[in-house]
Amino acid sequence: MSKWQELESKYFMHTVSRVPVTLVKGEGARVWDDNGREYLDFVAGWAVNSLGHCHPVVAEALAEQAHTLIQVSNQFYTIPQLRLAEILVQHSCLDKVFISNSGAEANEGAVKLARRYGKHHRHGAYEVISANGSFHGRTLSMVAASGQAKHQEAYLPLPAGFINVEYNNIEAIKAATTDKTCAVILEPLQGEGGVNMPDDNYLKMVREWCSQQGILLILDEIQTGIGRLGTLFGYELYGVEPDVMTLAKGLGSGVPIGAIMVKDSANVFAPGEHGSTFGGNPLVCAAAYATLKYIIENKVADNARKIGQYFAGRLEELKDKYTFVTDVRGCGLLLAIEFDREIAADVLGACLENGLLVNRLKPSALRFMPPLIIGRDEVDEAINILDRVLAAI
Ligand SMILES: *Cc1c(COP(=O)(O)O)cnc(C)c1O
Repeated sequence: MSKWQELESKYFMHTVSRVPVTLVKGEGARVWDDNGREYLDFVAGWAVNSLGHCHPVVAEALAEQAHTLIQVSNQFYTIPQLRLAEILVQHSCLDKVFISNSGAEANEGAVKLARRYGKHHRHGAYEVISANGSFHGRTLSMVAASGQAKHQEAYLPLPAGFINVEYNNIEAIKAATTDKTCAVILEPLQGEGGVNMPDDNYLKMVREWCSQQGILLILDEIQTGIGRLGTLFGYELYGVEPDVMTLAKGLGSGVPIGAIMVKDSANVFAPGEHGSTFGGNPLVCAAAYATLKYIIENKVADNARKIGQYFAGRLEELKDKYTFVTDVRGCGLLLAIEFDREIAADVLGACLENGLLVNRLKPSALRFMPPLIIGRDEVDEAINILDRVLAAI
């Protein structure tokens, strides 16, 4: 055990099974550990570091803002927050923005907003329908919204008003809709739950149903948004527009930030009904604005689409070569491979030995979510390592 691992086991709550590496530095798609070992990073802070580590545009925006103004009360106007709101609205189908500190917190706010909407427009409706296998965060309400029993059991009873139904089944949503329903919340493509793709037209049918019933469609784009799927927002791929969208991971290049975005028709919060001390402070908003501006101006989402297609093709080659690789799925630079046996932890360990960081999605699957700025060389390097590792399995 290293000194840092000892400190962790002595002082830190054991809420995560860590990979036995202490990372001290990052640049582009690479990180280094405390022994100076270099790794190619296909986890990217959990689909967060879209521009890679410590991108100069972000580091400079942060440094400049840190020397200018870090935090004031949200009672005052601050410029980075308004610049960020403007660029988000100008490049999406939504009209208004609220900034939070994390993804779960953005979803909490979205559900509060949906309940407020239910009070105003649906005689006090408060129930939110979500999908099995979804992941919406770790707060108690979001544990209730996330349709995964393994995350729920320890915390019963959960807050009321959440109904989990089968994913990719429009009839299940229809059957669960009552006069108490105020919203449906879905990820365009389920990330943590397994990189599960929506069936053709599923999201369109959900959109139609929500419009017909007068209930809100909330899309949780915390993982899929900001270029990850090869479009700036995931909804663009599926030809639907949400009433409410939440963002977080890729939004700020690693500063803690989330966002709720709404159409004007769903903009129901009045002053005093929602808020945050840190949410949208100048420091995080400067980083997010610099990130978004760079992504838009440099067509980074296009790169994610093209490199994602190339990467998926190369993973397909591995699937053809190794019979125990049974599936390659995903979109843009959110990809997964499935094995016919529970070897993900072993493969992850061997990748680590060979200088590649990947994510264990399930005992039998790995997920790849590299920075969106990677090139073919880096994909080839990762594929070569995977090929070597799988050959030795
Ligand atoms: C990561 C994630 C969340 C939770 O975000 P936190 O910032 O960890 O609270 C919510 N929804 C989705 C789809 C996510 O991927």
